[in-house]
Amino acid sequence: MIGSQGKINQLLTEPGCEHNQQKDQGKKNKACKQQAQPGAAQGGCAFDGAMIALVPITDAAHLVHGPIACSGNSWGSRGSFSSGPMLYKMGFTTDLSENDVIFGGEKRLYKAIGEIAKRYNPAAVFVYATCVTALIGDDIDAVCKVAAKKIGLPVIPVHSAGFVGSKNLGNRIGGEALLDYVVGTGEPKQLEQHLL
Ligand code: SF4
Repeated sequence: MIGSQGKINQLLTEPGCEHNQQKDQGKKNKACKQQAQPGAAQGGCAFDGAMIALVPITDAAHLVHGPIACSGNSWGSRGSFSSGPMLYKMGFTTDLSENDVIFGGEKRLYKAIGEIAKRYNPAAVFVYATCVTALIGDDIDAVCKVAAKKIGLPVIPVHSAGFVGSKNLGNRIGGEALLDYVVGTGEPKQLEQHLL
């Protein structure tokens, strides 16, 4: 599971990093493999990093499952080039309240995914976990799976609770979501003539 401690440790190991690996032990940048402390991640949490990695997928809806403040954290400051679709510019959040924290936010998430599919017809929906939804134990994998079946679109869970680490780690968590749920799942409908 991508949100597990084992997976996080794996992502914090960077054997392919040319810069850090070549440095002596004392000179290595500790921030690259350090886990952030809960409450000390403001301004660059793993959730923020995962969004930075995935928001350039411009024809998908990016749904933040958490309190509205997480969504407001960096919304609108992340740009992307696009060959047309601009859906990535639209901010979606489940906007959890105290009641959802007590009773769980899974139903609200399921409803939000359905609403987005109906109103915006996206190519896919990315669902981002945040600190709150990870702490209350919402099973976003299960909700995404059931919702994907219902709406007939890919619904991709991103286990990006802010407390798991830094923005840098979040970049990697976003990439892992692509590897786990997107890459290799389909072929382009039509290849450009010059590529054939
Ligand atoms: S995911 Fe956590 S650390 Fe990041 S903005 Fe939301 S509450 Fe803050």
